Amino acid sequence: MGEFDLIDRYFRRPAAAAAGGVALGIGDDCALLAPTPGMQLAVSSDLLLEGRHFLSTVDPARLGHKALAVNLSDLAACGARPLAFTLALALPAADEDWLAPFARGLLALADAHGCALVGGDTTRGPLAICITVFGEVPPGQALLRSGARAGDDLWVSGTVGDARLALEVFRGTLRLPAEAFEAARLRLEQPQPRVALGQALRGIASAAIDISDGLLGDLGHVLRQSGVGARIEADRALGLLALRRLAADAVPAPIQLDCVLAGGDDYELAFTAPPARRDAVLAAGAAAQVALTRIGCIEAQPGVRVVDASGAALARAFASFDHFG
Ligand code: ADP
Ligand code: MG
Repeated sequence: MGEFDLIDRYFRRPAAAAAGGVALGIGDDCALLAPTPGMQLAVSSDLLLEGRHFLSTVDPARLGHKALAVNLSDLAACGARPLAFTLALALPAADEDWLAPFARGLLALADAHGCALVGGDTTRGPLAICITVFGEVPPGQALLRSGARAGDDLWVSGTVGDARLALEVFRGTLRLPAEAFEAARLRLEQPQPRVALGQALRGIASAAIDISDGLLGDLGHVLRQSGVGARIEADRALGLLALRRLAADAVPAPIQLDCVLAGGDDYELAFTAPPARRDAVLAAGAAAQVALTRIGCIEAQPGVRVVDASGAALARAFASFDHFG
């Protein structure tokens, strides 16, 4: 199978070219995008390398899903609506048993978000997947990292920390009951980008970021770019771990908190909003059908303070968490 047969068979779909926002899809030297007049284009790329960003044993359908999900998550964090994406692929071989499920997982998520595959590049090489997404957002309404203000609430969507638990099981540092492991593994391999939530938070959230490298690390970007600090209530943060309900006794409490605060691969949104907008925030979560948890607040003093129920700061350094080596 040649390069062009491969593209035609797995990635080119005539109907996708008719999607809104796309004037010309796969097959020419360039794709042509037609964003809604007056909107700003939101653009983001992510490169996924075998061994570094995913395990070689991962189900290709889940990998296809995740490759696009991590990019859609960046659009979500900006409050942008997805339009289209390109796919640059390096493959060791044209393996149909890999390509068919990969394309299926990828395009299923693309269809779910009305985001058409409009072009890319295909070459032989060690497995690497680079996706660039294009979205649109009204001028001045993109959610930025720089807008958090002292006194704002700190919110997190969905569940956080479970993906890291699954990763540690794969690494052999942790054991989980079968049912709990499958649930955690789904969070690691099939994250759900919070695209609807991001758009619903436009005009409500003062700052936002998606959690890819760990809650504290990513929140740190918001705090630095906004010139503020934060206080996080440990008990509220622990409530973000879905597995707490399934397998609380399988994982020691300190490791649970580490996974929530520094785990990574969650692809949830962390965002800030003034307390006066709490009802609007909760309405946005309800409209997007995503649970939202208020885990703390923004303070003028730089840095992050993780506090217990009595308000006392926990002495441990979470940001540098590396128990697992
Ligand atoms: P060029 O050499 O002009 O860059 P190619 O011959 O590499 O174009 O690709 C032919 C067409 O197929 C182009 O429209 C390109 O965008 C598209 N394409 C190539 N690889 C992929 C891919 N992995 N997924 C989607 N479209 C692709
Ligand atoms: Mg090319």
